Amino acid sequence: MTDAPILGPDSPYRNAPLPPSECFDEWMGEALREATDAQTADEVPVGAVVVHDGKVIGRGRDRRVELRDPTAHAEVLAMREAALALGDWRLEGCALFVTLEPCPMCAGAALMARLPLLVYGANNDKFGALITRTHLADTPAWNHRMAHVGGVRAEECAALLKDYFSRKRRGLSA
Ligand SMILES: [Zn+2]
Repeated sequence: MTDAPILGPDSPYRNAPLPPSECFDEWMGEALREATDAQTADEVPVGAVVVHDGKVIGRGRDRRVELRDPTAHAEVLAMREAALALGDWRLEGCALFVTLEPCPMCAGAALMARLPLLVYGANNDKFGALITRTHLADTPAWNHRMAHVGGVRAEECAALLKDYFSRKRRGLSA
């Protein structure tokens, strides 16, 4: 193997094994690390990583304030980095780990990337698009099926958000 991007529709990367469920906590730890970095940067503490073949190939944290970009959610940035690493917009053979249930934009982007597995931590009461507010990934209209698992290290993921918003309400920065 070389470090060069793997190109083309017949590339073997697509058949990489997905992370087994006993590793979910560990990979969520990587996403939590990104979320903590977001908190340090005074952004909403949501973090995401894309895992392929046992390695993190994309990382992201919420950067909407810094980039003045409404689409700069953790998942979008992690998927962009992963696609660059693979040299292909399709994230087949990849799993996305994110600390918060994705919004409609990010769940939609994951579907468009043909992502086979999305694992998240806390439920997203306001904008959760997989379970809480709508069931975007389970709509029979799409011909792509994306498996999703929630509640992984949910308390830690939610605690970061709770702490952030309570500080905001009290007028404190991170
Ligand atoms: Zn989002």
